[in-house]
Amino acid sequence: MPETTQRRKKNKKPLPTECVFCKNNGEEEAYYRKHLLKDADGRVSCPILRAYTCPICGACGDIAHTVKYCPKSTKNPETLTTVNAFKLLRNSMGKRRVK
Ligand SMILES: [Zn+2]
Ligand SMILES: [Zn+2]
Repeated sequence: MPETTQRRKKNKKPLPTECVFCKNNGEEEAYYRKHLLKDADGRVSCPILRAYTCPICGACGDIAHTVKYCPKSTKNPETLTTVNAFKLLRNSMGKRRVK
């Protein structure tokens, strides 16, 4: 049983109730609603993102992020390597980018 410490209080705060990272990745609702992307302290709680290591700065775990959100890479389309970013790129461009 994975759910041990779930509290059932009605939310008063406008905090996110789902993991937007997994949501954007196309995970099932039942999955991304079980956890948040970040906790109240700003640390990454998503197990998938935590396991991801930023290829640009090497961040992972509590401070993990995708290259899209990497503080060291503000504008660098060549470094969009996650599946999600790739998908977005193709959708918005309509065609593949050739270097
Ligand atoms: Zn997640
Ligand atoms: Zn980074």
